[in-house]
Amino acid sequence: MSANESANLPSVEPARSVDRGESTRAVHLPAVDPPAQRLLGQNVSRSSTFAFDTAADYAAVLADASAGYVYSRYDNPTVDAFALGMAALEGHGLDHPVAGQAFASGMAAISSVLMTLVGAGGHVLAPAAVYGGTYALLNRVLSRFGVRTTYADLTDPQAAATAIRPDTALIWAETIANPTTAVADIPGLAAVAREAGIPLVVDSTFASPAVCRPLEHGATVVVHSATKYLGGHSDVTGGVAVGPVELMGVIRATRIDLGGSLSPDDAFLLRRGLTTLPLRVSQHSRTALAVATAIASHPAVERVDYPGLPTHPQHEVARKLFLADPPGGDGGGGIRFGGVMTITPRGGRPAGMALCDGLALAAIATSLGGTHSVVSHVASTTHRQFDDAALRAAGISPGSVRFSIGLESADDLVADIGTALDRLPA
Ligand SMILES: *Cc1c(COP(=O)(O)O)cnc(C)c1O
Repeated sequence: MSANESANLPSVEPARSVDRGESTRAVHLPAVDPPAQRLLGQNVSRSSTFAFDTAADYAAVLADASAGYVYSRYDNPTVDAFALGMAALEGHGLDHPVAGQAFASGMAAISSVLMTLVGAGGHVLAPAAVYGGTYALLNRVLSRFGVRTTYADLTDPQAAATAIRPDTALIWAETIANPTTAVADIPGLAAVAREAGIPLVVDSTFASPAVCRPLEHGATVVVHSATKYLGGHSDVTGGVAVGPVELMGVIRATRIDLGGSLSPDDAFLLRRGLTTLPLRVSQHSRTALAVATAIASHPAVERVDYPGLPTHPQHEVARKLFLADPPGGDGGGGIRFGGVMTITPRGGRPAGMALCDGLALAAIATSLGGTHSVVSHVASTTHRQFDDAALRAAGISPGSVRFSIGLESADDLVADIGTALDRLPA
């Protein structure tokens, strides 16, 4: 081989199909064979459909007799790569195999899981502080199919046991609740569900598998809004569920029928997000603990809700269920309590809104789990349908502000929040 020759040039043989028209040649461009080398980075399979050598091969894959790809609403290699990654992270340390399924949003995951597990006339037991989208799905959509929901304080497994009915199809829980940051007693709820012979589903969005692995503590299925910590950069919307292989096969069928499948480009971003999840969540957690500790003693603060504070009602539960940084590493072996906290300034609703307006670093925005710190005034945003009495009943103060602590330097965040608090009218 001479110096100007290479085995790696995309070259073509002298044209043989001279009888094919220009447009045919354009459509049937030669394809590059898949590389013999393993990819370290992830590539994106954008194809919406996959071609077979024979009609029999096609029929076999459709009939589930052999593995393969048919159509990207059903399955897609890039989407599967993300789902598989999540199955590996959530399923670590289990004695049974688990499978993952990815969705176009957290709500697409939640609707597919709920519509797999509960039928017409069925009953769902959910926490009083359940995510607003889940609440709306249960009350506005599934209620029209006869599904009834009881909302109870599920931080107490005994309360869950008393609320179970003969027609209860499942228990729904959230690892860390919004905006109270109440921590679910997952092993306690799993025992209640086991006793009743029903599944426990845990929405672990606020925790991510870098804070807690609910399956290890007895949950049947774990779901996430991947939009938050899994993506981690506020640039992608997605969802995911992980659970036992057989059940996930049924959830996959529901996803295919409902159509909330994830796009390959978004799956690429989500799988890339997973590679840095432990690093990001470790840093989010350390910064959040530093901020919560520093801000809790500010004279303008009525309360800070953060599972990492010893004053938090479920601090001991969190210490048992949450994962720690590896000892000896930068994190010093500390427990990760996540990046979300709620700060309630003295002075009620106007003080809460003024605290948001006084921040220079944290953006006023919805969502959480990204690199940027964001805040929302709870009573005027996520819980805007609640009047002050309803807020109090849900354990939320009219002035509460939810913080998603980003990856900025802890000192800068403490200074920024401190300045905004200093400026509140006394
Ligand atoms: C954001 C969120 C969802 C919904 O996820 P989307 O990706 O917005 O559909 C569900 N549960 C929790 C706890 C969330 O924070």
